Amino acid sequence: MERGALLSGTVHPGGREPAPGRLALVQMLVNTVDREHGPDLLDDVGGLGEWLDARGLLEPGAEVSPPDLEAARELREALRALMHANNGAPEEPGARAALDAAAARAELRPMFPSEGPELVPGRGGVDGALGRVVAAAFAAMLDGSWARLKACPRVICGWAFYDRSSNASATWCSMAVCGGRVKAGAYYRRRRAAG
Ligand SMILES: [Zn+2]
Repeated sequence: MERGALLSGTVHPGGREPAPGRLALVQMLVNTVDREHGPDLLDDVGGLGEWLDARGLLEPGAEVSPPDLEAARELREALRALMHANNGAPEEPGARAALDAAAARAELRPMFPSEGPELVPGRGGVDGALGRVVAAAFAAMLDGSWARLKACPRVICGWAFYDRSSNASATWCSMAVCGGRVKAGAYYRRRRAAG
């Protein structure tokens, strides 16, 4: 995938619509890597800075350090693990603790503006920016939309997609790409086993 496509967050295999509202921010963080073909925007601090800028999450002049990059990668994979759990996988130990830690680093606190209550980071910089992602996940867990944000189960893929099917039964990021390949692989394995 093109780097610019990952940065824009507008690529949705299978023609799916992105997650609604701020939950799209969580989806975009998880989709900062094309695990099958590359690139990975979180390969270096520059890429993380670019992504945060593109989302308007970083105040001008804020620095991005190697520990920030580590924190962003850890949060991304914890979110992906929880999205795999939304798709029926067993929950990965430690994923929720990674969200707790990111929320604590950001010093998330409840605020009550007229538009509605929300969690707002007390810290700036990358800690605060990642806190906004966690706050979006938190709000979605409360309103129920979180359960539809799933990670594609094809091991090399793991793409985050929002399941808008009426009974929330979608499994693959794209039936044509991942669903088809996994099913074809199973078919050939069965044929080979049958001799
Ligand atoms: Zn997929």
